[in-house]
Amino acid sequence: MKFEYCYMCEEKAVSKEHVPPKCIFPEQKDVAGENYRKDLITVPSCEVHNSSKSKDDEFLLVSLADIFGNNSIGYRHKFGKVDRAIRRSSTRLIDKAFTKKKHYFIQTKNNDFLEVIWGTPDHIRLNRCFEHIAYELYLKHFNHKFSGEVKVLLGYLHNTDVSNNNFVQFIKDRAQIDLSGIPKQGENSEVFYYQFSEPDQFGIYLLYLRFYGGIDIYISMMPNGIEKPSHLGFELMKIGVPVTLTLGNKTYPVNLKNN
Ligand SMILES: [Zn+2]
Repeated sequence: MKFEYCYMCEEKAVSKEHVPPKCIFPEQKDVAGENYRKDLITVPSCEVHNSSKSKDDEFLLVSLADIFGNNSIGYRHKFGKVDRAIRRSSTRLIDKAFTKKKHYFIQTKNNDFLEVIWGTPDHIRLNRCFEHIAYELYLKHFNHKFSGEVKVLLGYLHNTDVSNNNFVQFIKDRAQIDLSGIPKQGENSEVFYYQFSEPDQFGIYLLYLRFYGGIDIYISMMPNGIEKPSHLGFELMKIGVPVTLTLGNKTYPVNLKNN
């Protein structure tokens, strides 16, 4: 084993963890011979972090599958496993993924009824899953452990708050600039790939994750020991003052109302 110690703590590694979890990659039998499990990424893990994470693997699959299904990206049939995993997991798992939920039925053009769950995903737990993935990918990518601060932005969330949507759009546009020309990592890019940006002027890395060709996660990773950036715009946003972020000649008004 290349690394002797766990990706997350100081304990000795006893096993390997798949990153992201293996269960999110459809099995060959479910996708008509396509192999979406080529050279999956693994990192060394201790007993504790292996078992604690495996509880989250199913949660992550259900959360991603649900977002994926609701977005109707068009892979429902191609990724049969994902679709079936939702059905199999039934209410029990969906209940774990959503803290508040409502079920709706939408009638499609073909007179099918599509069940849609509209609710508040369990952000804290989802964030924790993505934080772990960030630590794991950092170790894999840079050959040393990350220590510092990690912030996760769930880029796929459709929010009813215009100000929040502007902020997400700003991050997306900024990421597109920072990631241009950076190779995509991951052998099964239709299911998952990631990109690490070069560190910015403050030493902060942007980690971009893409799942199922349409779910975007943006993670900023600020290593310990670097000076905290101070950006007046972000400071003002925290206290609810309207500010306008700019990128090139585009502007992004945020905090249009106090909330
Ligand atoms: Zn550990």
